[in-house]
Amino acid sequence: MQTKTEGIVIKEFRFRETSKILTIFTKKYGKVHVMARGAYKPKSQLIANTQLFSYNDYYLYKGRNFYYINQADIIDSFYPIRENINRVMYGSYLLELVDLSNLEEEANERLFLLLKKGLMVLSKLDKDFIKFILTYELKYISFLGYKPYLDRCVVCGRDKFSQFKFSIEQGGIICSNCFSIEPLCENMDLTMYKTMKTLLYTPLDKISSLEIPKDVMFKLHEIMVEYILNKIDRKKFNSLNMLKSMKDNGGVY
Ligand SMILES: [Zn+2]
Repeated sequence: MQTKTEGIVIKEFRFRETSKILTIFTKKYGKVHVMARGAYKPKSQLIANTQLFSYNDYYLYKGRNFYYINQADIIDSFYPIRENINRVMYGSYLLELVDLSNLEEEANERLFLLLKKGLMVLSKLDKDFIKFILTYELKYISFLGYKPYLDRCVVCGRDKFSQFKFSIEQGGIICSNCFSIEPLCENMDLTMYKTMKTLLYTPLDKISSLEIPKDVMFKLHEIMVEYILNKIDRKKFNSLNMLKSMKDNGGVY
């Protein structure tokens, strides 16, 4: 039985001489494993459809262990991502996020549309990568079901307080009265709080005019990474470690 769905290649590895095993995030079925036979052959029809970031209409059929590609029509290769090292590195993080936080064959259309939009915006981005990534993370974790709670203290419900932190465990801000009972917390000041709120509700393609201090965004990005890892029960993102080591060596940025 053949089925048609949009999908984005989020992972690839070589199988035997000329084939590839892909992880594709599809609109209809969520994350699936796909065997692309002969994708490494120089004359393969599938070369463009089986590269990382590539966004296609796939006609798939299901075998015992894998899906197989009957036909694929490219919608967007997001080629410009490959032309810039920052885009590649942050793009790899977007793909890894999807890979690590989704179970197989569990559809999440909002996440699919967010990834598609994220890759579109990223493919035109030349600066302010951290602002893009932070905004993406806030939306991503929200669509995964853990939207940060910013209206009042997530523990006691108080809504007027001057000192607060972000509780990784509870996924929201907490007041100074509740600091002691919530062990896993990160410091936040008013600027960080306001920035988080603004970026949470601003569309990805509308952030370019927002002026936000870099250090505020880096601190919030660190909190979001810790928060996301906690919620998806993982230890680290390889793509971010790679990004960090390249920066430490003066390579990127
Ligand atoms: Zn409280």
